[in-house]
Amino acid sequence: MSYSQLDDVILKLTDEVTVKVLNILLDQREIFDEDIVNILNEGITEENIDPDSSEEENVIRIALKEVRKSLYKLNERSLARYRRVRDKETGYFVYYWSPIWERIRDLIVSRRKQTIKKLKQRLDYEQRNLLYVCEEGHTPVTFSDAFEFGFLCTVCGQELAQKENAETISVLQNKISELEKILKTGLEEIEGIEERMEKTTNS
Ligand SMILES: [Zn+2]
Repeated sequence: MSYSQLDDVILKLTDEVTVKVLNILLDQREIFDEDIVNILNEGITEENIDPDSSEEENVIRIALKEVRKSLYKLNERSLARYRRVRDKETGYFVYYWSPIWERIRDLIVSRRKQTIKKLKQRLDYEQRNLLYVCEEGHTPVTFSDAFEFGFLCTVCGQELAQKENAETISVLQNKISELEKILKTGLEEIEGIEERMEKTTNS
């Protein structure tokens, strides 16, 4: 299962492997790092490669290293936490990982809101300022700038005319309402996962 909202937001911050690792984490309450590797390599290990072959060993080993790197990245961003337990038999520490829901939710919300805010600022600008532009479409300017330049383009010297921005405004308005909808469904999606996890914990 993959969470559309996350892929989109997290990919901007990190790499594809980390997104995959986070998606696996989200399906578990807590998971041993080597189990993440097994899930990631499910397709690969089922291939009939000689188990004694060092090549296959290398593939798995690199993946474990990569998965750990991804987990540390997520931990640095406070998106995942670990619990360290000493293995009684080997004496080594083993790490159990889990996602930090509040932080993941906050991240999605803040990123989306940031984008929406920028679009709204742009819309406000478009609505407040009638822009003037030459026939070639060189840098559009506000009325006061156009006035200052004697209604002549500073690039090509052609006459400046009022720019039709109704289309830009409607594109921006559509984009904003689309993102607001996405933000809402994304939050519902995350809340759904949280509830499911709580049920698993309580049962
Ligand atoms: Zn021009």
